[in-house]
Amino acid sequence: MGSSLTPARTAIVLGGGVSGLLAARELAAAGHAVTVLEAADTWGGCVGSHVVAGLTLDSGAESFATRSTAVADLAAELGLAGRIVAPRPGGAWVQLSDGPRELPKTGVLGIPANPWDPEVRRSLGLAGSLRASLDKYLPARFGAAAEVTSVSALVRARMGRRVLERLVAPVVGGVHSADPGLLDVDMVAPGLRAGIKAHGSLAAAVAAQRRNAGGPSAATAGSAVAGLEYGMHTLVTALLSDLQQRGVTLLSGHPAAAVARTAGGWRVTAGEEAYDGGLLVVALPGPDAVGLLQAAVPALAGRSPEHGPDVRLVTLVVDLPELDRRPRGTGVLVAPQTPGIEAKALTHATAKWDWLAAAAGPGTHVLRLSYGRLERAGDGTAPADATLDAAAPATDRDLLATALRDASALLDVPVQDKDVVGWDVVSWQGALPFAAVGHKARVAEIRSICSAEEGLGIVGGWVAGNGLAAVVFDTRKEVRVLAG
Ligand SMILES: Cc1cc2nc3c(=O)[nH]c(=O)nc-3n(C[C@H](O)[C@H](O)[C@H](O)COP(=O)(O)OP(=O)(O)OC[C@H]3O[C@@H](n4cnc5c(N)ncnc54)[C@H](O)[C@@H]3O)c2cc1C
Repeated sequence: MGSSLTPARTAIVLGGGVSGLLAARELAAAGHAVTVLEAADTWGGCVGSHVVAGLTLDSGAESFATRSTAVADLAAELGLAGRIVAPRPGGAWVQLSDGPRELPKTGVLGIPANPWDPEVRRSLGLAGSLRASLDKYLPARFGAAAEVTSVSALVRARMGRRVLERLVAPVVGGVHSADPGLLDVDMVAPGLRAGIKAHGSLAAAVAAQRRNAGGPSAATAGSAVAGLEYGMHTLVTALLSDLQQRGVTLLSGHPAAAVARTAGGWRVTAGEEAYDGGLLVVALPGPDAVGLLQAAVPALAGRSPEHGPDVRLVTLVVDLPELDRRPRGTGVLVAPQTPGIEAKALTHATAKWDWLAAAAGPGTHVLRLSYGRLERAGDGTAPADATLDAAAPATDRDLLATALRDASALLDVPVQDKDVVGWDVVSWQGALPFAAVGHKARVAEIRSICSAEEGLGIVGGWVAGNGLAAVVFDTRKEVRVLAG
């Protein structure tokens, strides 16, 4: 390419994560000749894979929310309908400073639908459940009227401190790697505040969202998440082969370095090459997207979203038949400041997914521990700078030792060096978008600036809201409008 005469119905997509690949699919389906530029040598972004002890495992995302059918519909279109699987029903646990508890299964982000549910009662105690049930009697606008609000401000106002600390903070830490005081509730729990207005209380709003969860098949009914047999990364494999069939040009190892406007559309420079397209879809992490577009769209200057937390995942494959009894269900979420534990979450992957238990064989287990969380500085009551957990150990070896210690404490089973048959550490630097309070409004501004530019679309987790369900839904909506 490289000519300023842009051929009609051509499109360039920057980024080969799920949002970029899906954007390419939509554009190709609408009749555009599409080129995708991906910086890394591998495709899928946060939906990656790695091989540990001979097992091919997800290295990033491993499930999707079933509050909508967005991901299941896409999987079905790609021929994966029969591979959608529900996790084992055992549920997860939460590690509190006073010990482990079963995590109530009826919540959204840990917020209970019923404060008197026996599991909720056990976690909160009588006083906690009583305070949480006040929610029902508070006016609907309470905690829901402000223009923007954090997860903790909403939960504390309606249900009290114990729900926040003992249920919500561990779940939010596990999913978003950040303190709930830092996160915009409208970004991480879309529709919840509107639900309070519609149903009268936070608990009722949660119950309504849970009723809508369940996915399209009997296999996923009742669980808030589902996965794919053989791993979420198989969605990326299926997307790639679909794109190949549609004639999409897929260029990995091609980091986009500059974006400019041309008479007929857009020009992207990557290495020595320039690529012209009538349409441009930017499917990069937020700071990269805004940084790259600024020269062509000056109104974006100074609007870069904050970098997300740096997360490290330690995967352990262990020969430890004692874990066959799944001592903590599908895993454990850790409440912030739990003494002696540095991990923020442990997934017992072979207890969660039957296909993986079968692949690993009896007595062999896959454990995944995650590290790194954005905390509020100070006492957590004032707006504060986000700082990465300073206790995170430096080297992968150090982190392995920490992971063995944490796994032993969280599972209440000694997990030792001699049990390990394989391990890996994967770093996700800034990959989780940081949905800070006010993020939704900032993103809306960025989107409106971009939509005023002809032929430009921006997609991805930082605009859609973190997680595959949001990313798939939003990408399709945006790109269908753009593709015309
Ligand atoms: C560790 C982890 C676990 C997660 N677990 C879950 C889960 O279980 N369930 C769930 O629903 N969600 C999960 N998520 C979130 C989910 O994976 C993301 O929301 C989603 O994959 C984001 O997709 P994306 O396309 O927006 O971004 P990304 O996947 O980040 O893709 C962006 C792509 O852009 C590329 N890129 C960057 N700069 C350039 C450049 N200059 N030129 C070209 N390419 C560039 C990157 O290499 C990357 O491939 C998880 C995320 C992480 C990090």
